[in-house]
Amino acid sequence: MAKMTRNTGLLMIPGPTPLADEVYDALGSEMFSFADPRFAQVFREALAMTQDMLGNPEEVYIIPGSGLFAMEIALTNCVQPGEKILIINQGYFGDRFSQIANAYGIEYEEVKAEWGTRVDPQEVAQALAKGGFKAVTLTHVDTSVGVLADFATLIPLIKESGSLLIVDGVCATAAVEESFTKGYGANKANIDVLLTAGQKAIGCPPGLAIVAFSPDALAARAAMPKIPAYFGDINNWRIVMKEPGRAFGTPPVSMINAYHAALKLVYQEGLEVRYQRHERYGKAMRAALRALGLTVLAGEEVTAPTISCVLYPEGIVDAEFRKALAAKGMMIAGAMSRMSGKAFRIGHMGSTTPQMLEQAIALLGETLNEMGFSADGATAVAVLQAKLFC
Ligand code: PMP
Repeated sequence: MAKMTRNTGLLMIPGPTPLADEVYDALGSEMFSFADPRFAQVFREALAMTQDMLGNPEEVYIIPGSGLFAMEIALTNCVQPGEKILIINQGYFGDRFSQIANAYGIEYEEVKAEWGTRVDPQEVAQALAKGGFKAVTLTHVDTSVGVLADFATLIPLIKESGSLLIVDGVCATAAVEESFTKGYGANKANIDVLLTAGQKAIGCPPGLAIVAFSPDALAARAAMPKIPAYFGDINNWRIVMKEPGRAFGTPPVSMINAYHAALKLVYQEGLEVRYQRHERYGKAMRAALRALGLTVLAGEEVTAPTISCVLYPEGIVDAEFRKALAAKGMMIAGAMSRMSGKAFRIGHMGSTTPQMLEQAIALLGETLNEMGFSADGATAVAVLQAKLFC
């Protein structure tokens, strides 16, 4: 495990996540010119690690911005205004795709799931059968509800339809495998665009939009002479990614240093080991939350390993609960949109340590009791430990 000496609070929101000392060090390292060969080398290595982590997409872009900008880059570089997409919507971040589509005059249809559940694959198949979708968007983990998309079922369906597949990996990358070459389902169907950001399971600060493309997605971009983007047009950034040291917009030197350090830690741990650790974290946290007497919104078969959305028991007031935890140094997130006030969200990913998870469960138990809900914190911590170290 990476050293974690500089996190004085307990940052348990679903991103940004706590940073390892190596990442803090990288953020504070000497400023170099973006053209300095020492920085160019770091950038090259960051690109190569990203490419390897994602199973060798054709091209990878690391651009200043947040995950939302990565979503925008993915859409605008594959789909033109007036063309249509299908949005597989399993929560608030599905809604975000429709908002971006609206902003760019992209037509869309949606297949929606009740929050906390997955979409019905038959409904997806029926929608796809109508045809005419340039691309389909799929959120790997919808952070609003803690639901993990069913890649093995949905990706082959989508690819059989001939549409491009755009995956939002913001709350999954580096915690759940996402591969451009391994493929999903019996016919090994592949992703075309994977967009992500650094501040969740990768363990980097917020500020980078990371987008990877397949040859088919790049062909779609090449077939569009003009797109309604300039800063977000990958054609403008290609030179920077092919020849680190070059600039379009100035590469965010410190952020790329931090991202490089975070990815080195990912590789030190090993991708497979990291995926298994997140699986274990998710199971342990959900078991411990249930041992506190709480209900996780998403059913066990559909839950994400990275984040849990947890329903409040009768009588616990969201704002008061989170304020009481914040006073003890622990930050959790409120629920989003229609779930607001009814649940809280807790992240368990990236460089977060088992000790942090133990403290978090203990503090949740203590605070629930203070607010009149009887919870057995000691038992919940024991349940957590049993599952974490099994
Ligand atoms: N997609 C998902 C699944 C997310 O969880 C988030 C952020 N919580 C975003 C997109 C947007 O990322 P950002 O907040 O970095 O713009």
